[in-house]
Parts: sequence; C-alpha cells; structure tokens
Amino acid sequence: MAPEFDDIPDRLGRVIETYIGRGQAAALLELEPVAFHPYEAAARPALPLAVRISVLKRDGWLCRYCGKRTIFQPVMALLGSIFSNDFPHHTNWCKCR
Ligand SMILES: [Zn+2]
Repeated sequence: MAPEFDDIPDRLGRVIETYIGRGQAAALLELEPVAFHPYEAAARPALPLAVRISVLKRDGWLCRYCGKRTIFQPVMALLGSIFSNDFPHHTNWCKCR
C-alpha cells in the first residue's frame, strides 16, 4: 500500500539540484526533513544458546527467508577469530571493518 503522500523522491531531486547549484550547505537544508537521525537503540539480550539451537533444529538448519542451509553463528565467530583478515566476523553481518 502506497503512503498517502510521498514527496521524498521530489525532495531528493531538489537536494541534488540544490547541491549542484548552490553547494552542500544549501542542499543539507533541503535534506533536513528527511535526513537520517541516528538514535541509540536499547541493546537486546542475546537468546540463550539452547534456544538458538532449538530454533535452528526446528527449522531443519535452513534459513527461513531464503531456504539455504544455515551456519551456526558461533561457527562464523570462530572462523572470524581464526581468519580475522580474510573471513572477518561481524555480529550484524556488516562487510565493514
Ligand atoms: Zn537466508
């Protein structure tokens, strides 16, 4: 369902036009209403290991989204600690450092 009013594409177009014509500071003013404002998210406690294992067993060790085989997260963390440069582990699967 589309939102009632979606001006974001038009606004982003104006941001680019303003950036080209008047520079970054002016473009930032145009961007402000839709700019990303980071917030502190409350840390959630990790599920207990036994619960994670039971969920993976329940799902047949398959990803519920894509159906591919699941790799147990601690295995990824272990590999990441051994091969930190070539196989870095990030808890949010970010490919950043
Ligand atoms: Zn998947």
